[in-house]
Amino acid sequence: MSGAKRLMAAIERKRGKAVALALKARVLKRCEYHEGVFEGDEEIVEAYKLGNARFEKDSLGKIFDSRREMTDYIKEGVEDAALECGQCAEMRD
Ligand SMILES: [Zn+2]
Repeated sequence: MSGAKRLMAAIERKRGKAVALALKARVLKRCEYHEGVFEGDEEIVEAYKLGNARFEKDSLGKIFDSRREMTDYIKEGVEDAALECGQCAEMRD
């Protein structure tokens, strides 16, 4: 694997983990019918808290280099999320 590919894979892994944390904290929700992820009911700070707690317990598998990096990825993942599942919205319209 080339260096660039490895870097992309690492970024994907971090993004995936950040979204998983946000889902767990209910800051994001997954559509029950599709793969779509969208905004949940909780404030983003709940995902930061969960991430920090896991970071402290070292249970994130060293995916993130620092807490700061982790919260940056969470922020990005949550900010990118739509208000509702894109596929549901498409089917409805
Ligand atoms: Zn959907």
